[in-house]
Amino acid sequence: MAKDLPDAGKPPATLAGIEKAIHECRRCPIGFLENQAVMGEGLKKSALMVVGEQPGEQEDLAGKPFVGPSGQLLDRYLVEAGIDRRQVYVTNAVKHFKFVWRGKRRLHQSPTGKEIDICRFWLDGELAIVQPKIVLALGGSAARGVLGKSVTISKTRGHPLPQEHGPEVWVTAHPSYLLRLKDEMKEQQERLFRADLAAVAERLGELAE
Ligand code: SF4
Repeated sequence: MAKDLPDAGKPPATLAGIEKAIHECRRCPIGFLENQAVMGEGLKKSALMVVGEQPGEQEDLAGKPFVGPSGQLLDRYLVEAGIDRRQVYVTNAVKHFKFVWRGKRRLHQSPTGKEIDICRFWLDGELAIVQPKIVLALGGSAARGVLGKSVTISKTRGHPLPQEHGPEVWVTAHPSYLLRLKDEMKEQQERLFRADLAAVAERLGELAE
């Protein structure tokens, strides 16, 4: 973690400790909005960690990750790929919901690269505890949070990205992207997403042998 970030140090060594700390975290401006931090969820040791961008409106209200439409879509594809969500640790690159008010509605805003980099402190903490064999990053923000750099999804999906240390990293689209598409483009991207999850499932099987 970069030394110039506020309170640089080590994240707590337990998931409960990280959860408590993110609720108090104000390292970046997102934590000052009217929201609550949303901690990752799943087994303390999971072979697969799935990382999204940030909590959405529904996740923020529920205080749980991936409970909104994107999460429901993800669940469907995980089932199709033969991956049991109860065996997966799901979390986000950014722990607070970033939004702007439009009347009475809170509209999603993408986190900046800097905000993702700052929040990576907590993701690193979760990774150190959960010790997954594979991390699957959903979308560009998640990929930046996991890899510490920006990548192009179309060029990096479908195969593990070489890492010097730690788990294999795979990258695919965010389910919210699929929800926004229509017609042929939707079908094409759904096929690619399905294929990515199937490849991850196969690799998980290989790593378990
Ligand atoms: S988004 Fe992350 S870094 Fe920013 S305040 Fe929330 S927990 Fe802290």
